[in-house]
This record gives sequence, structure tokens and C-alpha cells, in this order.
Amino acid sequence: MQIDPICGKRLEAEAGAPTAEYKKRRYYFCSDRCQKLFEQRTERSRMSHLAKVGALLSNGKVRWGLA
Ligand SMILES: [Zn+2]
Repeated sequence: MQIDPICGKRLEAEAGAPTAEYKKRRYYFCSDRCQKLFEQRTERSRMSHLAKVGALLSNGKVRWGLA
């Protein structure tokens, strides 16, 4: 039994059901639409994570530059 992380529907593990892998976990979806929404969300959180990492690195540079 799997739970669709987008709409919360309970799913029987079905061959050919849409799935996505994120942070080494596999997620199952009731439809392509939920899979796409999930991918959009994970993409957005990945981008904001990269932005934070980038901000930390540039802060570090500034700090080192001043020191
Ligand atoms: Zn769904």
C-alpha cells in the first residue's frame, strides 16, 4: 500500500503507475497530474536549497574578503 503524497489517496502498488524518486525514496501517484505536481514541488525546493547554498557561499566570500 502506497500513499500519493500530493492528494493523499491510498494506492495499490500497480505496475505502470506513475512514480518519482526523490532523495532516495520512491513515491507513487494516482495520476500523471499528481506526479507532475510533485516534480514541480521538489524542483522548487531543490532550487531554493541551491539558492541558500549559493547565498551562504557568497556570504562566506564577503566575510573572508573583509577579514
Ligand atoms: Zn493523486
